[in-house]
Amino acid sequence: MSTLRDLLERLGQDVSDVRLERAMVASQHASEGSGQRLAELNERLDHMTLAIVAMWDLVKETHGLVDRQLLDRMAKLDELDGTKDGRLRMPPRPCRQCGRNLKATRSRCLYCGTACAPTQILP
Ligand SMILES: [Zn+2]
Repeated sequence: MSTLRDLLERLGQDVSDVRLERAMVASQHASEGSGQRLAELNERLDHMTLAIVAMWDLVKETHGLVDRQLLDRMAKLDELDGTKDGRLRMPPRPCRQCGRNLKATRSRCLYCGTACAPTQILP
């Protein structure tokens, strides 16, 4: 399963990059070339969606899961932060060494460098 985890981590980084770029493009929508960039970002999102659907299809086929199980798990994870908004927002957690807050996706403390297992894979 480490291959699937690696794929998910890479996918998560791609999603994060696309979100950041889309926000930047949206903030400068009047600038030259932003329409082309937005089209490129939408193309990347389409590609990532295809990758997610392909992974889920493989998981269903390999492990005999059904769509209802995925939907139930999505709903459960959505509600972890107390807000049912269709997003995964894990709260920050303290570094076990220095106590400063770390994003759930961080695997290492930004302040002291201590390795901390992420509590969330995708952003
Ligand atoms: Zn720390």
